[in-house]
Amino acid sequence: METKPEKRLPVVDYGRCVACGSCLPACPFSCLELSRTDLDADRTAFPELARVVDCTCCGLCARACPVDCISMTGLVVA
Ligand code: SF4
Ligand code: SF4
Repeated sequence: METKPEKRLPVVDYGRCVACGSCLPACPFSCLELSRTDLDADRTAFPELARVVDCTCCGLCARACPVDCISMTGLVVA
């Protein structure tokens, strides 16, 4: 039986993310947005996967991250 290749969504380690925004323009489909959070006292805007359905799990956002805090370990979608 043929098995589909495994695909996984990007997951941001917010403990290491420096909120530089470099991952946003790296996405060909504009899936990522910076959103205000309560993750720190300054309510810094951190990236989130705003358009999950458009994400192709290509990993370009992870490759663009200067601190290597995006891992392609999210929900299996295929
Ligand atoms: S894995 Fe690819 S499509 Fe998905 S958010 Fe990252 S750059 Fe965009
Ligand atoms: S590129 Fe990395 S450090 Fe910069 S906002 Fe995106 S996840 Fe955070």
